[in-house]
Amino acid sequence: MGWFRRANKKSAEAVEPTDLWTVCPSCKAHIYKAEWQKALMVCPKCQFHDKLTGYERVAITLDGNTFEEFDKDISARDPLKFVDAKGSYMDKAKAAVEETSMREAILTGRGKLNKMSVVVGVMDFRFIGGSLSGGVGEKILLAADFARRHRHPLILFSASGGARMHEGIVSLMQMAKTCAGIAKLNKARIPYISVLTNPTFGGVSASYAMVGDINIAEPGALIGFAGRRVIEQTIKQELPPDFQTAEYLLAHGFIDRIVNRSEMKEFLSGVLSYWRR
Ligand SMILES: [Zn+2]
Repeated sequence: MGWFRRANKKSAEAVEPTDLWTVCPSCKAHIYKAEWQKALMVCPKCQFHDKLTGYERVAITLDGNTFEEFDKDISARDPLKFVDAKGSYMDKAKAAVEETSMREAILTGRGKLNKMSVVVGVMDFRFIGGSLSGGVGEKILLAADFARRHRHPLILFSASGGARMHEGIVSLMQMAKTCAGIAKLNKARIPYISVLTNPTFGGVSASYAMVGDINIAEPGALIGFAGRRVIEQTIKQELPPDFQTAEYLLAHGFIDRIVNRSEMKEFLSGVLSYWRR
């Protein structure tokens, strides 16, 4: 019965498929990891745009070695001493810090975009679902303030499940706070571009993510306020299959443009080149 036994068990296990391949979360195609990374984490088969970390986004958006991070030390605070069935908020925040090497769910800073000085903010979904907390709101406000004082355009990349409910009312107040900072930019006639990436929901889509001078989205990004199921249960109606996709929002006038990740940098720099300081 020799043929039932694996002759050389070790060599069969030596090549771990996960070292070589990435499985596309959308179409399940197996893509070489190198190819996946070269395509900026976009599936070459179905164009699914996978999530990026904050630092990955900065690396593909700004000119090499021009990024200077702001407010690296702002971290999550726990005004309610919040604990739920899964443990305390602070433990969750600590785990997120370890996983992401960030202290909050957004990375902010300045840098050059095709040689133009810009201020950027990039939300990282890995950090408690990219939720909007007091710390995130503070970093956005400080970034907007820096952009206004130095007359640099502001670009924010959103990826968020919404307000961080562990902070209760403090998280909701960030909606007004961030928009106040952006309103000041508007008054000073400095452009603010909002880039909505998958997914952008709740208090983020209901505040700074939707008030850009130009609001753009990546293909297929899910964007909305409440989730699909909640709405269906509330209005007792079935929603169309493409509901809350970037394409649906574009067709209904909620966003201005859908831009592929590979063209994002050139698009942003093209739009900003129209702006005369
Ligand atoms: Zn795919």
